[in-house]
Amino acid sequence: MKINKISIYKIDLPLHKPYWLSGGRLRFDVLDSTFVCIETDDGLEGWGEGCPWGETYLPAFGSGIRAVLGLVAPQLIGSDPLKIEQLNRNMDLMLPGHEYGKSAVDMACWDILGQHSEMSVVDLLGGRYDIPVPIASSVSTGTPEQMLELIKEFRDSGYHVHSAKVGADLELDIERVKFLSREKNRDEVIFYDANRAWIPQEAISVMNAVDGGNIWFEQPCETLEQCLQVRRQTSHPICIDEGLKIFNDLLRISNEGIAEIVNIKLNRVGGLSKARRMRDFCLEAGIAMLIMETGGSVLADTATVHFAQSIPPEFIRGTWLCHEMVGPDVAEGQGARNINGDVSAPDLPGLGVKPDISILGEPVAVYE
Ligand code: MG
Repeated sequence: MKINKISIYKIDLPLHKPYWLSGGRLRFDVLDSTFVCIETDDGLEGWGEGCPWGETYLPAFGSGIRAVLGLVAPQLIGSDPLKIEQLNRNMDLMLPGHEYGKSAVDMACWDILGQHSEMSVVDLLGGRYDIPVPIASSVSTGTPEQMLELIKEFRDSGYHVHSAKVGADLELDIERVKFLSREKNRDEVIFYDANRAWIPQEAISVMNAVDGGNIWFEQPCETLEQCLQVRRQTSHPICIDEGLKIFNDLLRISNEGIAEIVNIKLNRVGGLSKARRMRDFCLEAGIAMLIMETGGSVLADTATVHFAQSIPPEFIRGTWLCHEMVGPDVAEGQGARNINGDVSAPDLPGLGVKPDISILGEPVAVYE
């Protein structure tokens, strides 16, 4: 099989509500998403999506993805999309790094492999666990009361895992954590995501000022060194999110005991193939996982859920459905959708999502 055409689409995904990270430092209104459609010489069509969370969250941005694709996509014409590991290796030789620019290509190739073999991506990744994956909400930062209101809205849609954004104001952070941990239901999990906002002294102050079981803190500080310093002086579990970019980061996290949980975001780590290596290492090393995308429509979310549902339930802490927070719906009635706070991957060949191209508009680039 050969790739004979790659089309690139750009679509803006406005958020239903403006969103703030870490004490109002960063406001988000719209996400810039890139869709990749790979067509093969035997008539298959695979879809992938890459969508950073704005420009200020990670060293990644929408037009950066399209610039990477402008360099890589023409060189992929004629490649075999079923040889995904080789294809990834070739992309890394063409352009080292820039993982976020390449993940949508990897995703589209998994979609093609699934359609070709008439297997769902979750089954290709090792097989589906029959228990649906809990969806974590994403609770924008605010006063403790505002954040509880948001949690209640998510609770009404069935959510029982919540990612509450903290950071920036120490006294208020301590109040947020104490208040929300007190107000949560018995069957709920709330974890507190600082998105790198604290320096170690601040993280240590907040984490040691709150107690209670089943809470953990995500990416308290900017670097792995700083997070390690926090790990040594606190007892609540720590999750590394933004600090996990390449496999070597995971090796360090495990070897140095920096965290008990990692958040593997497909776009940031370069797609399903590279995430799969991380998954397998975590299973051997006893590291729990959140599995998410950095953002996007139901297409990106569905790839995430295929991956998440290939993980034993005792290792998975949740996923996230960005598409519930943005519009438009690019594949109505398709893909992985929220069912009372949990989600399952479609039982269809490939990803099981075909975006409506009348919503995507004309491609911004075509390579053939
Ligand atoms: Mg996070």
